[in-house]
Amino acid sequence: MSLSSDPDPSTAGDTALLDRETFTRAPDEKVNWVTSIPFLAFHVIAFVGPFISGVTMKSFLLFLVMVFGRLWFITAGYHRYFAHRSYRTSRAFQLVLALGGVSCVQKGPLWWAGHHRNHHRYSDTELDVHSPKRGFWWSHVGWILCDKFADAPTERIRDFAKYPELRFIEKYNGVFPWLTGLACFLIAGWSGLFVGFFLSTVVLWHDTFLVNSLAHVMGRRRYATTDTSRNSVLIAVATLGEGWHNNHHHHQASARNGFFWWELDMTFYVLKVLSWMHIVHDLKVPSAELLAAQREQKSTSV
Ligand SMILES: [Zn+2]
Ligand SMILES: [Zn+2]
Repeated sequence: MSLSSDPDPSTAGDTALLDRETFTRAPDEKVNWVTSIPFLAFHVIAFVGPFISGVTMKSFLLFLVMVFGRLWFITAGYHRYFAHRSYRTSRAFQLVLALGGVSCVQKGPLWWAGHHRNHHRYSDTELDVHSPKRGFWWSHVGWILCDKFADAPTERIRDFAKYPELRFIEKYNGVFPWLTGLACFLIAGWSGLFVGFFLSTVVLWHDTFLVNSLAHVMGRRRYATTDTSRNSVLIAVATLGEGWHNNHHHHQASARNGFFWWELDMTFYVLKVLSWMHIVHDLKVPSAELLAAQREQKSTSV
């Protein structure tokens, strides 16, 4: 892998990430178009299917629940719990979080959280699996379709790999989504399957992927982190609070990504309610010192 830098450092003022520094990808970091056929076919079914089945009120409501309900399991479960351990819960609810996450067709919790830990460990260096410095589409989806990152980095997620029920879910992660699809079919028929499952899953995928791609390119930087993470209200609304990504890179152990009351963070609000119900506990939040530390001299935006 080689590094090429913008020869003019004056353009490096947080305005256009991709103009100033890029990494080239290694030969083994290429999309495998053959093994990616199911992923591509999923998109075709998601966009053609609803024209065949039609969209009913029931399937539309199911679509909303399946996008935002499942997204919460990615943000609160796969991300803030399994990747960052930003709160604690029982082993039973840990299992619920894993089952909700695996229904999202984003592989198992060990794969997801393990690679995400590597993202934080190597943010925007040549070892970052999905830095936009390797190309915007690579950071969005290319890295997922590459053989090199197909397996879970188990050495990075040993703390959860010790649970047999999580290893079981990881091993059979390809089965659970079809059970979800079957449930959608039983609830709302063919429209439920195409709109409630296939279309909602594709929307959910790209909504999740935005955090890896756009949240490192678009928005403002409050904290002078060593990576390119940014805060964006638009991405925060679309991703239940994950768009406060510069906040998150500043204090990744926090269960709350919207650091101030005006920074909408639906994931955290639900976690807070669950804590009142004693389902989760020990929600970590940043101290006053952390909130004030490492501020950018001047907030920058694109
Ligand atoms: Zn990031
Ligand atoms: Zn994270």
